[in-house]
Amino acid sequence: CGIVGYIGHRDAFPIIIKGLQRLEYRGYDSAGIALFDGNQINLVKTKGKVEDLRNKANSISNEGTIGIGHTRWATHGVPNDVNSHPHYSNSGDLVIIHNGIIENYESIKKELTKRGYTFTSDTDTEVLVNLIEEVKKTEDVKLGQAVQIALNQVVGAYAIAVFDRKKPDEIVVAKLGSPLAIGVGENEFFIASDASPFIEFTNNAVYLEDEEMAIVRLGKEIKLRKIKNDAVA
Ligand code: GLU
Repeated sequence: CGIVGYIGHRDAFPIIIKGLQRLEYRGYDSAGIALFDGNQINLVKTKGKVEDLRNKANSISNEGTIGIGHTRWATHGVPNDVNSHPHYSNSGDLVIIHNGIIENYESIKKELTKRGYTFTSDTDTEVLVNLIEEVKKTEDVKLGQAVQIALNQVVGAYAIAVFDRKKPDEIVVAKLGSPLAIGVGENEFFIASDASPFIEFTNNAVYLEDEEMAIVRLGKEIKLRKIKNDAVA
């Protein structure tokens, strides 16, 4: 399984597709991609190979200079189109990719269901993106803060990347267990499970440590945070 993300000035689609292909060695059963086209987030996902994803994506608008892509190794929910990543939050504003397992997803899902959330997939990942949304709403905090608070309620392993349709100049990433690297270019950033998807663009890579997260924003330095020990900021 692998994750790839891009934010910058180039077309994200070819970078993400090619990146996912370079991560194919990690093994997977499904693949998907989400791109912000300046107005909405377009999402395509499919059981099968990255090549199947590329063919399916030809039918939608694959414009966008911010996007995230995923190859899935199913742990919660069978491999099918719906369970493939990325996953939207209920509002449709947030979109996430995740490698790993959220062990306490059932109790979180129960609580969110009580608060009116609905779920279209069987994944632990869709629970996490809605937990982030709920924290963001109820605590009235920024996405990075919401991710940090949410991850403090989570038991499990993850490499995640999430962004907000309403704030499409930033991707928030976090890591515990699964690998995550950020490539830093000129006014552009690459996100991936390892450096192979962005090696021809930059050799400036930041590797997140376990329990570390980063707010990756265009025109800014990367903000690194310890998920458990740093103040929510
Ligand atoms: N647990 C998640 C799922 O089953 C992510 C699996 C993965 O690492 O690809 O969808």
